[in-house]
Amino acid sequence: MRRFSKISIGLAVSASLAATSATAARPAPIIDVHVHALSADDQGPPPLAMCTPIDPMPTWDTVKPVMGNFLDLFKKPTCKDPIWSPMTDAEVMQRTLAVMERNNVYGVVAGRFKLVSEWRKAAPSRVMPSLVPDFPLKPGLAEELKEGKASGMLGVIGELGFQYDGISVSDPALEPLWAAAESNDIPVAVHFGPGPPGMAYVPGSGYRARLSSPLLLEDVLVKHPKLRVNVMHAGFPMLDDTLALLYAHPQVYLDTGVIVYTQPRPAFYRYLQALVDAGFGKRIMFGSDQMVWPETMERAIRVIEEAPFLSKEQKRDIFYNNAARFLRLDDATIAAHHRK
Ligand SMILES: [Zn+2]
Repeated sequence: MRRFSKISIGLAVSASLAATSATAARPAPIIDVHVHALSADDQGPPPLAMCTPIDPMPTWDTVKPVMGNFLDLFKKPTCKDPIWSPMTDAEVMQRTLAVMERNNVYGVVAGRFKLVSEWRKAAPSRVMPSLVPDFPLKPGLAEELKEGKASGMLGVIGELGFQYDGISVSDPALEPLWAAAESNDIPVAVHFGPGPPGMAYVPGSGYRARLSSPLLLEDVLVKHPKLRVNVMHAGFPMLDDTLALLYAHPQVYLDTGVIVYTQPRPAFYRYLQALVDAGFGKRIMFGSDQMVWPETMERAIRVIEEAPFLSKEQKRDIFYNNAARFLRLDDATIAAHHRK
């Protein structure tokens, strides 16, 4: 759901995490593959409210400016228990890290290099940095990624939000990115699906809903068979396209993304259950898409925990095992995460 930033970021992640300090009874570990390190004003002037879920979805009367629609959504929440966003960057970080500590969450954290570095410094064992290269892509990208990975600082490339610029993932201009990610064996995390309602009308936005289909990835995957891809937001609501992609391309994973807390539960559960019922329970990863509302992560965890159609084992796969496999975490890291 995050707006794509053209601001550069250097590079990123260590999959080998240091052990954290022991606490009495830590809950079973969770990997959240979709966390953002953002400034407090990244989504608009704080404080901003987030309803979980957003229900009813906004109705835009076009006699009003489109930005008024956003203001209503974020400043005049209609739900009883909105999460209000922090006023400072430091508080966004501190409140999010507190939620992660409380729930024993390890996060793939995306953002600008400076903020991601600060988060990593504050919680080295819990933050796996995820960054995006400069756009337009420059020559020497593969080498840059290689150096980032070798330095132990590059694990995931993302969140890649081409949809917000109206650019399809199959655009030839992106070819060097897929090639460089594949040759360096660095996973990519790509936005598919919902942006804020009305996003297409925001000045400068190229957002198009039709670019929500993860099937747009198909030629990229065939050309780069070793590329590891996280289809963010599970391609919602393009269920048939998502099922077709998962079936035909068994290396593709997806994350729950923002739909886990923005969609009314019946809609999210129907979608998630359809994916699980179709046999893809080993390829779904927990991702909260926490932006500037730290406690959305906690509410998102609850949505999965309370899903009546998931077994205990399926929940553990979604919360941890699938992401550990996708990220290729080593045995020592997995053992450290599971330390009581
Ligand atoms: Zn996101």
